[in-house]
Amino acid sequence: MNRKKIIMGNWKMNLTVPESTILIQKLKKEVPVSTKAEVVVCPTFIDIYSASEELKGSNIKVGAQNVAEEEKGAYTGEVSVLALKGFVDYIIVGHSERRNIFGESDKIVAKKAEIAMRHDIRPVICVGETLHEREDKLSKVVVLSQLEASCKHLTGEEIAESLIAYEPVWAIGTGQVCSSEEAEKMAEHIRGLIKSLYGEKVSGSVRVLYGGSVTSASSKSFRKSKNIDGLLVGGASLNHQEFAAIVKNYGEKKK
Ligand code: PEP
Repeated sequence: MNRKKIIMGNWKMNLTVPESTILIQKLKKEVPVSTKAEVVVCPTFIDIYSASEELKGSNIKVGAQNVAEEEKGAYTGEVSVLALKGFVDYIIVGHSERRNIFGESDKIVAKKAEIAMRHDIRPVICVGETLHEREDKLSKVVVLSQLEASCKHLTGEEIAESLIAYEPVWAIGTGQVCSSEEAEKMAEHIRGLIKSLYGEKVSGSVRVLYGGSVTSASSKSFRKSKNIDGLLVGGASLNHQEFAAIVKNYGEKKK
């Protein structure tokens, strides 16, 4: 199955509009145009419109970090999929910071994945265990139960178009990278669950990403992972040279 590699930068709540404009200008110069991988940056909501304008005609796409679970209405402070439509190709849903800081349940994540897909925007469904769960040897159980519940409103065809990001919580922003062997094993379990729920064709099409303290140095180790198709990068995506180096190191991966 030919799955296109992807490298996504999650800028979180770190940049102002002028700062994101500067970063975009640098990325446009630095990210190799020759890369065969898809490259995506996910700015904050207020930066999305200007980012999508500035990146028009480049090989860098725009994603959102979140979306409201409802389409429209009296939801003060929320941003709807209708507002994002036309400006983003991807929406991250269920990031561990959303789950853990803002209390988003699998039920909410499932609604967000569904609403994104209904508007032809690919959801990037994040799953991952905490350190405590890892120490209790519950990683696989936790990840697969989050995944099954978060995908529950999507059809097999829609899952095939979606992305699943394995992001162990203990590796996010901690500098502790999960080994590529361990991440590959989890990606295999993820693909196995998708196969048992939706069949072989879907499991062979869905793209599985790894995220958690990836740097240009560690990105190389994921090149050989058969079941990992991309990287979700937080901190390192704020540095144009680091992010461009990750695209170079990982994006040229041969399957
Ligand atoms: C993330 O937040 O999705 C992430 C992977 O962050 P970091 O790379 O900083 O660990």
